[in-house]
Order: sequence, then structure tokens, then C-alpha cells
Amino acid sequence: MFIDSHCHYDRKQFNKNRFEILADIKLCGVGKIITPAIELESNVTMYEKLDISGLSREKLPEIYYTAGIHPTRVWRNGSIPEKEWENVLRNAVENDCVVALGETGLDYHHQMDENMFEKQHFWFHKQLEIAQEFKLPLVLHIRQADIDAIEVLKQYPLKESGVVHCFNGDITVAEKYIEMGLFFGIGGSVTLDESDSLRETVKHIPLERILLETDAPYVCPKWCNDRWNTSLNIPKIADYIAKLKNISAEEVEYITTENAENLFGI
Ligand SMILES: [Zn+2]
Repeated sequence: MFIDSHCHYDRKQFNKNRFEILADIKLCGVGKIITPAIELESNVTMYEKLDISGLSREKLPEIYYTAGIHPTRVWRNGSIPEKEWENVLRNAVENDCVVALGETGLDYHHQMDENMFEKQHFWFHKQLEIAQEFKLPLVLHIRQADIDAIEVLKQYPLKESGVVHCFNGDITVAEKYIEMGLFFGIGGSVTLDESDSLRETVKHIPLERILLETDAPYVCPKWCNDRWNTSLNIPKIADYIAKLKNISAEEVEYITTENAENLFGI
């Protein structure tokens, strides 16, 4: 059995066929999925979108969630006071099917003014505090901001570990995250033509630190002809990593599933 440790089936791209896709991914061996929150409101709405009451559960993967606010969404909902945002997060982490805090982190890819920069840092710190308080592992979104993110993370010694989702750094950066006890979410980006450096890094990272992910509907692998990415690509990504590391696909499946189960307690 595979685990897709990071996918977003609550997104509008799946409005027409969300449960059909979920049934298909179960058939192709993906038995558990993690759905990270993105916007503040997705901490409430994703449960309604993925409401499986009335459906046959054994035909669907087990669905788990995270509570959090993505670094590129922290300047939305500006009219809602920060205390209220925090309350939404605190309510969300109480939910039984919430297994981690995130997506949180830093994203310097897009042009930002100073106010946006400050807001990203404020919510990163705030979410690390909540993760520590509730002893939750982290789902980290870090883009072109590894040095700053590592500095912030060092201020919050982790009670539980976490995963650097959609990891795209080099070996030096990977070593730093390994030292901190973190895992790496590896998905479609490792298959892209321009990802030579990432492929070298993935060869270097121990399999015991790797989780499989798609980030569906985003981050399509190289071979993907569909408009949107889905977890149907997970077995192929496992195969790709196996070839890179010169090990069997079964080993990748077994160890990455064990990694995700241990990290998220699922
Ligand atoms: Zn994501």
C-alpha cells in the first residue's frame, strides 16, 4: 500500500469527479492520503468537500487532514483579526482526523512587499508555537527560503518531526534538514527535465527520510498528459525513485509508507 502524503482533493479542480478519483486511487494501491489545509477557510470547508458519509468506505482511501495556513495565503482575509485566525487553527487541531500542522513555512518565490514578508514570518512562528503546544508534526512549505526557514525552525525545537513538502533543495540544504530530523516529500518535480540537482539529492537522501507525495492537483510529473495531477501517479513516482536509487519499487513502497505512518501516527 502507498500513502500520498500531500494532496488536495478538496480543491475546485476535483469538483466534478472527486469521489471517482478517490475510488480509482484506492484501486491503484493508494490506501491513505493526507489533505493539508491551504487557506484559512479550507480549515473548515475541506471536511465538507471530502465528506464521505453515505459512501462505501472500503472503496476509498483513508483520509487525514492537517490544520494550517499556507505562507502564500497569509495576506488574504485581511479584515479578519489575527486572534480569530488563531482560533480557527486552534479549533481545527482539535479535530480527530487532523494529524499535522501545516502547510506552514516561507515562500519567497513571488514578489513580496515588507508587509507580506512580515506576515509570512508572523504566521510561521505562530504555527510552530501551536505545533509545539499540541505536539503535532509539521507539513512545511519552503520555497526559495531554506536559510531563513532553518533559522526560524531552530528556535522551536521539534517535539515531533515534520516533512519538507515538495522538497527541491540541494545536498547541502538536505543535510541540514536531515540533521534536524525532518523528512522530505518527493513527487512529480523529481521527474522533470530541469531537476538534475534534485535527482542527485534524492539519490543522497536515505529512503528512511522520504515520503511520497503528489501535491495533486498541482506539480504534474513529466509523463502526465492530464490537466491535473492525481495520486494515480504515486506508484510511478515510487518506481522512478527506485530506479534512481537502484533499489526495488517494493522497497520504496514499503519504507515510504512506514515513514508516513510513523510521522503522522496513522
Ligand atoms: Zn500542497
